[in-house]
Amino acid sequence: MRVNLFLRHFLIYSLIIVLTTLIITLITSYEYKKNYLKTLEINLQQQAEIIREEIKDDVINNRYKQINTLINTIAQQINTRITIIRNDGLVIGDSEYEADKMEDHSTRSEFIQAVQKGIGKKVRFSKTTQQNMLYVAVPIISNNKVLGVVRTSAYLRQIEKDLSAINTKIIYWTVSLTILALLLAWITSKNLTQPIRLITKAAERIKNGDFQTYFVNNRKDEVGALINSINKMAESLKTLFNSLQSEREEMRSILSAMTEGLLVLNDRDQIIATNESFRTIVGVNNLIGQYHWQIIQNNQFNQIIAEIKNKKICRNREIELNNNVYSVSGKLIDSQDGRSKTIIVLYDITEFKKLEKIKADFIANISHELKTPLTSIKGFADTLADEVGKKYRNFAQTISRNADRLINIVQDLLIISELENTSQRLQIEKVRFSEIFNNITRLFKEKLKSKKLQLHIAMDDDVQEWYADYFLIEQMFINLIDNAIKYNVEKGEIHITLKKDDHNLKITIEDTGIGISREHWDRIFERFYVVDKSRSRKLGGTGLGLAIVKHIVLSHNGDIKVESEVGKGTRFIITLPNYSLSEPGEKKL
Ligand code: ADP
Repeated sequence: MRVNLFLRHFLIYSLIIVLTTLIITLITSYEYKKNYLKTLEINLQQQAEIIREEIKDDVINNRYKQINTLINTIAQQINTRITIIRNDGLVIGDSEYEADKMEDHSTRSEFIQAVQKGIGKKVRFSKTTQQNMLYVAVPIISNNKVLGVVRTSAYLRQIEKDLSAINTKIIYWTVSLTILALLLAWITSKNLTQPIRLITKAAERIKNGDFQTYFVNNRKDEVGALINSINKMAESLKTLFNSLQSEREEMRSILSAMTEGLLVLNDRDQIIATNESFRTIVGVNNLIGQYHWQIIQNNQFNQIIAEIKNKKICRNREIELNNNVYSVSGKLIDSQDGRSKTIIVLYDITEFKKLEKIKADFIANISHELKTPLTSIKGFADTLADEVGKKYRNFAQTISRNADRLINIVQDLLIISELENTSQRLQIEKVRFSEIFNNITRLFKEKLKSKKLQLHIAMDDDVQEWYADYFLIEQMFINLIDNAIKYNVEKGEIHITLKKDDHNLKITIEDTGIGISREHWDRIFERFYVVDKSRSRKLGGTGLGLAIVKHIVLSHNGDIKVESEVGKGTRFIITLPNYSLSEPGEKKL
């Protein structure tokens, strides 16, 4: 149960006040009574001592009548009962009763105390007056002999009456002061709890997003400082909230303006955010909370997500969704709470793919059409060179050489367009490298010999066979070895090594040729890019060889790198993944 702070304060204050005043009242009343009795006792004693002197002679001379007259007179003046008792206990005088009718007083304790100790005091019930009385007794001594006792006494009823009048006054003042104190406690509690209540209300408002909260604050104490802090906090929160809001709005408009589809998944593969473009791509509006595979049933897409989670990043993977082609990129983001998020962007490349296909078809058709006439030109040029006289042989040979170059280009273009044809599929089968290298050494035997080059092949036992597309892998080696021969020096060397690296196959083709300076390393894989045009032309190069190699490597999901030093040689490093882990068969490019 929530107890009101004000009420709690007030109740505590009240309890303290009431208890304190109660204790003070009791102590005061008790102390007052004690003092009152003490004073009364002293008075009675002094009176008894004075009377003792007055009646001493009468007692010595047994003048009881005079004694009675005297004490009656004195008693009236001082309003006190006076009793004179002889040393044997006989009452010889009393201011209120007839002495001879009073019983023997020798057993009264005030009498005994007075005789023995010189003073006797007692509060007790008087059989004579039938009331509670305070007695004080002093001995009458003559020649060291106790002749009797003078006893003064006061009625307790009277004392109590006096005391109760005083108690009434004490209670009156106590109650008045208590009421006043309670009133002050009420005001103090209110004063203390009111700002707390205000602050609580303000905090509540801030919690509910109302940052307009502002207190007028006139206080200069700690509470005032707290209120100032709250005002400043509300102000800062307002600024922060506004900037966050505008940032959020900005972000929202950017995301909705994006033509790319955006998908954000949590660590359990559930959708936590999308943009309009993504919702248009998948044709579903309510996506939040659903699993991505409920929305996109596509194996390639699932693989891309697995790859992002595995490698933290994935770039430009192509997938086909609802007859459109998308380039998919993604990244894994680790958040502070330890829960990672996957961000995926889908870019529609359908049109681009269509244009690419048109271009590739065009190049393929032209290359195809050019091949026959070029072969014919080459044939006739060669015949002419044999038939014509010396004067025209040169012309015919030039025609034949250029026809060769054109035929090379056309052949390379045909290979590229075949590779680029999206309907082309990899024919994955067990490739025996020894078989490929036998064919290749036979193919390049003459060229190696004419340049006096040495070809070394080193294969580890566990990579003698590999799952790949036989035709494409052979084409890759042909192009690379052709370059290693073309750009090598006389009596140079070519080293081919095949090794297992992790689960992958690592192929290196190294030569001792002219090398490639660093600025060309990235560009040599581009189509028609040659480092030295005249040299390449002279050597029958087309600038397409490495473009084909790169295409083959990428189509196997592999990777190619070049390292080189001008004047020393060049090394190509190729990594091919292990297809033997999956079933051999058709793999789409
Ligand atoms: P090309 O048909 O001209 O050889 P490539 O695409 O095969 O075309 O090679 C591109 C360019 O890269 C070449 O023109 C050449 O300058 C350079 N290159 C390729 N391989 C080597 C190598 N082994 N040594 C030196 N340069 C090379």
